[in-house]
Amino acid sequence: MPHDSHFLKRNLILNIISHLGPISRTELINLTDYRPASVSAIIKELLDEQLIVETGLTSVGCGRKRVLLEINKAHLCAIGLAFYTGFVTFLVAQIDGTVLHRENVPVRPGMPKETLIEQIVDRTGQLLHIYQDKNIVGIGIGEPLYDPTSYRPEYSFLTNYLHYNDWVKLSLKPRLEQFSGLRVETYSGVVLPAMVERHYGAAKGVENFICVELSNGIGSSLCLNGMPVSGATGRAGELGHTVIDHGNTAQKLCFCGKTGCVEVQTAYPALTAQLSAAMEQGVFSSLSSHIDPEHGITVDAIRHALDEGDRMCMHYVKAISQKLGVVIANAVNLLNPQLVVLYGFMTDLGSYFLQQLEMAIRENTLSAACDFELRTSPHLEKNLPLGAVAEIFSSYLRTDDYKWVYQLQPSDLENNTNSTETGERL
Ligand SMILES: [Zn+2]
Repeated sequence: MPHDSHFLKRNLILNIISHLGPISRTELINLTDYRPASVSAIIKELLDEQLIVETGLTSVGCGRKRVLLEINKAHLCAIGLAFYTGFVTFLVAQIDGTVLHRENVPVRPGMPKETLIEQIVDRTGQLLHIYQDKNIVGIGIGEPLYDPTSYRPEYSFLTNYLHYNDWVKLSLKPRLEQFSGLRVETYSGVVLPAMVERHYGAAKGVENFICVELSNGIGSSLCLNGMPVSGATGRAGELGHTVIDHGNTAQKLCFCGKTGCVEVQTAYPALTAQLSAAMEQGVFSSLSSHIDPEHGITVDAIRHALDEGDRMCMHYVKAISQKLGVVIANAVNLLNPQLVVLYGFMTDLGSYFLQQLEMAIRENTLSAACDFELRTSPHLEKNLPLGAVAEIFSSYLRTDDYKWVYQLQPSDLENNTNSTETGERL
C-alpha cells in the first residue's frame, strides 16, 4: 500500500482506536480534525477488514447514543517464540496480550540447526492452520543469548555465550518468511522482559524502568527514555556479572571466569548452598521439616520456614537481600528509573525476602533517585515470547510513527469532546 494521505489517515485512526478505544466516531473526528466523510469511509474500511469492531453504545447527553469502536482484539493475533534452556516456547497471543496457545518444543543439545529450524517451521505451520480464522499479523522471535543447539550447562561462559551465531536472524527468519508469507522479526533476548512489561505489564506507559531477574541467575532488562536497551553487542543488563567482592580469592569462581560476581553470591543456588552447609554443621532450622526428598530445598520450603520465623533462613535470606539490594541500588543510581520490576522464581520466597530487599535497595539508593516504584511480576519469566508479540504488533501498527497518540490519556479525550459537545449544544 503506498504511503498516500489515505494510508496515513487510516493508520492514525487505527492507532487512536487501538490506544484509546472504545471511542466514538465523533471523538475520532474531534481528535484528528479530518472531514467526517473521510473518517466514516476509513472506519467502514477497517470494519470490513475486521481490524476494528463496533462495541456497544455510549450516552452523550440529550438522550443521544453513539456507537463505540475498538480494535478487534479477538481477531488480531501474532505468534511469539523465545528460547529457553532445553526448549523453545511458542505463544499465540491477541493484540491485548491474551495468550490463546502456549507450548514448549524441546531443543536437544547437539541437534543440527537445520533440524531445529525445520521443526520450528513445521510447528509454526500447524499453528497457522489451527488459527486460520484469526488475522495473524506476524511472527516475533526473541534471539537467544547463546546457540541453543550447542548449549551445555557444564561448559564455560565463553564456550556457551561467545559461540552464539546469527542463524536465528540469517536462517530461521528468512525461512519462516518464505514459508508463511508473514512479517517475521527478531529481537535481542535481553530486551524481551522489558518489552513484555512495557506493553502488557507493570510498566505500561513508563518510559524509564528496569526489570531484574532473581532466579538461578541474576540479570536485568532495561528500558530508558522509552527505548529498550540491548547494548553494542546485545549484552546490556548483565547485572549478575558485576563484581561486589573484588580481590577475594577465597570466593568460588563464577562461570564467567571472574571472582566476586553478584550471581555467585546471591542467586538461588548460592542461597541453597549456604542453607545446606549450615544444616550440615548442625544449625537448628525448621527448614529440615519442609525439605522435599525428591526436589531438595525448594523455594516453597524456604518460604514456609521464613513464615514460621525460622532464624537460620531469615539470617541467610537477609544477607543475600542486602547484597542484592546494593547491586540493584547501584543500577538505580546509574539509570534513574521510575520503576523497578522484580521477576523470577526467587520472588516466591515471599514477603520477608521482598521487604528485606526493598529496604536494602532504598537504603543504598541516592536520595535524589529514590522516588521509584518497586513491583513484582510473577509470570514474566514464562511470558517472554509476549515481548516479541508486542513488538510485532508495534511494527504492524507503525506505532513509532504515532508516538504522540500513545501519550494521549482518556482525560484528553473527555476535554476535547466536552468542549465540542458544549459547542454543539449551543
Ligand atoms: Zn560472573
